[in-house]
Amino acid sequence: MGKNNTVPQQYNPYDNMLMVLDQAAKNLNLAPNDYEAIKYPERELKVSIPVEMDDGRIEVFEGYRVQHSSSMGPCKGGIRYHHEVDIDEVKALAAWMTLKCAVANIPYGGGKGAVKVDPSKLSKEELKRLTRRYVAMILPLIGPERDIPAPDVGTNAEVMGWIMDTYSMFKGYTVPGVVTGKPIELGGSLGRREATGRGVMLVVRELLKKLGKPISGIKVAVQGFGNVGGTAAKLLYDEGAKVIAISDVSGGLYHKDGINVKAVWEFIEKNPGKLIADYPVKNGETSITNQQVITCDAEILIPAALENQITADNANDIKASIIVEGANGPTTVEGDRILAEKGVVVIPDILANAGGVIVSYFEWVQNIQSLTWEEDEVNSTLEKIIIKAFNQVWKVAKDKDVTARMAAYMVALERISKSKKLRGVFP
Ligand code: GLU
Repeated sequence: MGKNNTVPQQYNPYDNMLMVLDQAAKNLNLAPNDYEAIKYPERELKVSIPVEMDDGRIEVFEGYRVQHSSSMGPCKGGIRYHHEVDIDEVKALAAWMTLKCAVANIPYGGGKGAVKVDPSKLSKEELKRLTRRYVAMILPLIGPERDIPAPDVGTNAEVMGWIMDTYSMFKGYTVPGVVTGKPIELGGSLGRREATGRGVMLVVRELLKKLGKPISGIKVAVQGFGNVGGTAAKLLYDEGAKVIAISDVSGGLYHKDGINVKAVWEFIEKNPGKLIADYPVKNGETSITNQQVITCDAEILIPAALENQITADNANDIKASIIVEGANGPTTVEGDRILAEKGVVVIPDILANAGGVIVSYFEWVQNIQSLTWEEDEVNSTLEKIIIKAFNQVWKVAKDKDVTARMAAYMVALERISKSKKLRGVFP
């Protein structure tokens, strides 16, 4: 478990989370009894997943499901397929889900799952077999009242459909509420795919209102052009922002007058497997690296890729005065300290990217009530919930003179520790 108040030599996202949590507990004057249990995940499961590959070989993958907390409701959180994932990352991601659901004030705890695999190296059939076996291995832990997976980095609606089917086959009847982010035809919600990116856009818009800055023409850089970054970039472009830099694993594009992000998105959508580096540049965009996206001359930076991107090594070089975290855990504690000293406003992951799990909640509600919502209703209810959470966090930040990250942790921790206290410790 984490050693408090020291910066770990090797980056450990769980220690990173604990350091912020400890400080939030201090700021709230919580007694150790009121938050001790939150420092430890409730359950950690590690599984081996043998998969018959297309060439007949058996390859064994490692998978995890971590349930961080069920204090406020069933555990909730995505499943990540990534070749570099490890247990500390999954533990941190699970804890961030607990905090995120508490900030959004939706009735869930937090969990996260992962398989150590590069999904781009597997055929669709291999991926399907891997998913089905992974679900079979974590089956005792999941369920609509227990723990509800969803998409994350490297997974998508199709994978969620396989999860729903596998779980249902074991049960003997169809259970749509076991997973969210499913295809619409299988009980998915309208608006879920865009929800995380839409939430990022809504948070940017609200923050700019607070700061008295117009959105029109504001220069934005987005690191990561997947479901979150790509959607956020498109929606901000629609709002009149100038998206001057974007990137994905293949590299980045820059244009001082703004990139037509809709054209890039369309190119990537229409050409599966293609990345930003393959985009046929039309309007004088130049190639830049992922690092250059982080330190370019944008006013708003949206890290929407992976953890550990803004660190002590590059925080000083960041020119943006606003950072909105589309990814989970993109900023280390050290990086965050430097940004705070520079006066950069950072809207933290557990608030900024909560749009995804908020609409997951709507999907689950639709599934258990066997009804469907119109897209307008999804989007307007998402807006109501995320703006309310933003305003609560902003008020705490101003009243207590703390960063928005600290304020978000304080709002979340107060809710979680209250619910724990009301429930009491079993037995
Ligand atoms: N993986 C997303 C997240 O990190 C969504 C989780 C969910 O919808 O349960 O917030």
